[in-house]
Amino acid sequence: MLVKCPKCGSETATLVKTWTISPRKPEEGTPKLMGIFECPNCEAKFRAIVEEAKSEETVSIKNMVERIKVIKGELMQTLKNLREKIKTLETERTNLMIEIEKLKKAAESRVSALESEVNMLREEVKSLRELLGYVEEKEK
Ligand SMILES: [Zn+2]
Repeated sequence: MLVKCPKCGSETATLVKTWTISPRKPEEGTPKLMGIFECPNCEAKFRAIVEEAKSEETVSIKNMVERIKVIKGELMQTLKNLREKIKTLETERTNLMIEIEKLKKAAESRVSALESEVNMLREEVKSLRELLGYVEEKEK
């Protein structure tokens, strides 16, 4: 990394010492790796941030957030799939209800057709009996 010398503007400063500054409060940010640099050009010594050191805690929280994002995405996908499944099932149920209704009507008309057929046969039997002079015995 290039650090500019505050005195001469040279970017050839060398790192001579480092230490970490940990924030006392979370709102003060992440720990920083500080360093003392020495400029070979003008021999000035100055402090500068080497890097914003990321604490393990910060990294693990970041990982957790990423994992939660993934899980949330999976849940959203599952929900979407379930909604589509429910929609399909509801359509299928409606179709089955219509089918059942049709079958019921078909069965009802079959029953009434059979009833009228049976009545006709009864009438035929009755007239045949009369033709043959057969007298029905009255129930005792
Ligand atoms: Zn310098």
